[in-house]
Amino acid sequence: MWFAVAAGIPCFGVVAAFGVAPDTLVDKLHVERIVQEVTLPRLPGHDALLDASYVSEERIQRGDTVAALLARLEVDDPQAIDFLRRSRDTRALAQLRPGRSVRAETSASGELQRLTYLTPSGDLLTIERGNDGFRVSQTPADLDPQPLMVSGEIRSSLFAATDAAGLPDAIATQIAEIFSSHIDFHRDLRRGDRFAVVYEGLAFEGEVVKTGRVLAAEFVNQGKTHRAVWFDGGDGAGAYYTPDGKSLRKAFLRSPLEFSRISSGFSHARFHPILQTWTAHRGIDYAAPTGTRVRTTGDGVVSFVGRKGGYGNLVIVDHAGHYSTYYAHLSAFAAGIRHGARLAQGDFVGHVGQTGLATGPHLHYEFHIRGVQHDPMRVVQPEAVPITRQLRAAFENHADPLVHQLSLLRTATLARLD
Ligand SMILES: [Zn+2]
Repeated sequence: MWFAVAAGIPCFGVVAAFGVAPDTLVDKLHVERIVQEVTLPRLPGHDALLDASYVSEERIQRGDTVAALLARLEVDDPQAIDFLRRSRDTRALAQLRPGRSVRAETSASGELQRLTYLTPSGDLLTIERGNDGFRVSQTPADLDPQPLMVSGEIRSSLFAATDAAGLPDAIATQIAEIFSSHIDFHRDLRRGDRFAVVYEGLAFEGEVVKTGRVLAAEFVNQGKTHRAVWFDGGDGAGAYYTPDGKSLRKAFLRSPLEFSRISSGFSHARFHPILQTWTAHRGIDYAAPTGTRVRTTGDGVVSFVGRKGGYGNLVIVDHAGHYSTYYAHLSAFAAGIRHGARLAQGDFVGHVGQTGLATGPHLHYEFHIRGVQHDPMRVVQPEAVPITRQLRAAFENHADPLVHQLSLLRTATLARLD
């Protein structure tokens, strides 16, 4: 269905889409407060004001509780608060998602008449006061698909750039995943790198409340342009391809560290690399907070797990073709990591630590070919399977408009940056 949307709207206003994105950091959100009197029978000497109904809307803030939220909504109604705390039907309210709106209708005295909330799963939760207590209903909200486009430039980190562009973390992480066989987002990023992305959005009453998959993305890293387009040839196993139909997946990921806001923010070393010569070290160090998840860069079989001298806690994974990878100084091993365990690319092997000879928490990563250490950044990887001849036309019909969008976005970004 998403393809129909993306392909069916070949030119969805580039400029208008800038900065329109949901679920961003709450600190960046402009907090709106709407208090509206619906009826205004202010007759002197008349107490009709007490019957007036007020509608107010509040954005959920990080760390919010239902009680705090109701207080901001000016609900002064112990009975309602008690109901919301106890009722099993209002459990969806427990997952308060920062940035989302909650709307309350109250009487002048603060008695709750109706509360509506769009749950993270996309349902509209309504709590309504009836004659004999509160009624709760939960129905799927009417969400309108809306392709979104955002572009930006890296100045300090990927997340700083995506925050500035108003891009949700989920999309930033997807971009890092999509290009994970080509770019090491912990080490390769440089000031001046640029990105452009087209992704799925779902809107409720005009406000984008949910995001889905990245449909197309471009990342210019150190002057080299990488592009990706999502394509599902109809077998349900979609994947990302370059605009000329090559798979973006390779036998090895560029980075063994899970990319996250935390791991990316930890080391500024990538912009001020600590001088460390490859010949002396025979491995790559990733400074990261203790506990950051470490993943195998390729499919393989665990051939060692345990302590080993200066390596500390070490996992070795053997891969097809006489390759093996080492993950050292781990604080802990992932569940299920034992000798002989089969792993798929990206499976977690353990957590960053500083066991063995390490002065601070970091991952020491080695890449071996026939038992000899090699610089993983210099290993040439074979190309993965491209789009088949049969799917070629369908792929091009789908990819071309998206690639066109990326080009428009790039032009718009450059114009904006000038
Ligand atoms: Zn090291």
